[in-house]
Amino acid sequence: MEIFVLWLFLSIVAGVIASNKGRSGLGFFLLSVILSPLIGIITALVAGSNTSKVEEKQIEAGGSKKCPFCAEIVKSEAKVCRFCGSDLPKQQGPEMISSSDYASAKGIEHSTVLDGLREGRIIGRQIDGEWYVSAKEL
Ligand SMILES: [Zn+2]
Repeated sequence: MEIFVLWLFLSIVAGVIASNKGRSGLGFFLLSVILSPLIGIITALVAGSNTSKVEEKQIEAGGSKKCPFCAEIVKSEAKVCRFCGSDLPKQQGPEMISSSDYASAKGIEHSTVLDGLREGRIIGRQIDGEWYVSAKEL
């Protein structure tokens, strides 16, 4: 029984290593369960990183952005690219409009918009108690 638990645990470890490298966590997990967690972990460690996937994750997490000049990943607060030395444009998030503007633009009740925001049906963000909707939603 303990062996089985350990086997599963190590298989999960293999999956986590793989997914941190931008590879299929589930795939490596299954490989480990079926063959051996040892093989799974070694394969995951040896496998090269799927760089673009890792970069995507970094950008999604919000800590990084891509330099428009050299396409390297730099910190989102960076003003100058550490790879090519270019001046980086200011971070431009998606444009936000206030929830009431959104409601009138859409011709719907403001309360409906607020409900949608709270329930996640409408993408937006709360800033200082006010709701803002991503202009992409329009
Ligand atoms: Zn650059």
